[in-house]
Amino acid sequence: MMRVHAYAAPAAAEPLTPTMIERRDVGPGDVLIEIEYAGICHSDIHTVKGEWGPQPYPLVPGHEIVGSVTESGAAVTRHRVGDRVGVGCMVDSCGECVNCRNGDEQYCLDGMVSTYGGLDRDGTVTQGGYSTHVVVDAGFVVSVPEGIDPAAAAPLLCAGITTYSPLRHWAAGPGRKVAVVGLGGLGHMAVKIAHAMEAEVTVLSQSLKKQEDGLRLGADHYHATSDPDTFERLAGRFDLIVNTVSAAIDVDAYLGLLAVDGTLVNVGAPPEPLSLNVFSLINARRSYAGSVIGGIAETQEMLDFCAEHRIGADIELISAEQINEAYERVLASDVRYRFVIDAATFR
Ligand code: NAP
Ligand code: ZN
Repeated sequence: MMRVHAYAAPAAAEPLTPTMIERRDVGPGDVLIEIEYAGICHSDIHTVKGEWGPQPYPLVPGHEIVGSVTESGAAVTRHRVGDRVGVGCMVDSCGECVNCRNGDEQYCLDGMVSTYGGLDRDGTVTQGGYSTHVVVDAGFVVSVPEGIDPAAAAPLLCAGITTYSPLRHWAAGPGRKVAVVGLGGLGHMAVKIAHAMEAEVTVLSQSLKKQEDGLRLGADHYHATSDPDTFERLAGRFDLIVNTVSAAIDVDAYLGLLAVDGTLVNVGAPPEPLSLNVFSLINARRSYAGSVIGGIAETQEMLDFCAEHRIGADIELISAEQINEAYERVLASDVRYRFVIDAATFR
């Protein structure tokens, strides 16, 4: 057992504070990672605030982890001491069900083990990446290719894979019109990745405040959803809409922007139910779908794709003591476009 520095939420309504936590011994299939960078995902905020249900406090969030291997178990072959690696939203799954065997560990029939707030194999609660070290089964650890700045790579472990996976699944590519709703952490990655996949990309943001950024990130078009004309002008246009918004949206209004056979995929995960008028679907054979992160092999594929296309997140590097302030800024849609914590400041 190893005692390490971390930042934890003591309870739902309280700010995160410094603490010490225990990491399990490195088993034969595990690696010990010295964390260098940890991204702040809006899911961390939904979770620690208890918006998705009760949590096992104190809870250390963080599922966008990049660091280097400092110890590896006897049975580990894929990661060596000194390798730069990443860990995303899950650290284990059954490995045997049909979904795990298909490489969709995130849809494990037994439930994937979340990087924090999950039930670890030793019966303890998993604790996430706002910390100096973590011990993870090597099968859930991916390689961070050289050529991506490690701090800018951290957000790829959640924001990157969460947008890459549906863009691939619904075939974003040349000749396809893709809209991204919400230009935050996930949204800005969706724009970069869809652009690299050569789709025609449109940003649908609440206002035009981030228009210049959106176009720089790779969007071809940018519209404000606060302008009701937007929904008339763009009606029936898109093959795929990726909704990354952390709050409830008017689903019917966005479905109206889809072409025949188009799909609106929700990756945003607001706690409250969203309503749907089925006529928004049946009038143009449209689909309304959801997607959660991506599998481990797909996460590696995404990292390799990002390295090849020179894609990292646009980040603001902060120290541990700025976490609570960063949460407030994320909640105010004032993130450009991902906060990443320098893990050296947890000590
Ligand atoms: P984020 O950085 O806060 O971005 C969300 C963006 O949504 C904001 O920047 C804002 O963009 C827009 N937005 C926020 N409030 C809004 C409102 N009331 N109405 C309309 N638009 C609003 O969050 P994130 O880290 O990208 O995460 C986004 C959501 O995805 C969260 O719910 C998170 O839990 C979820 N998530 C899901 C998965 C998955 O696997 N499915 C993985 C990670 C995260 P504009 O200012 O441009 O409008
Ligand atoms: Zn996340």
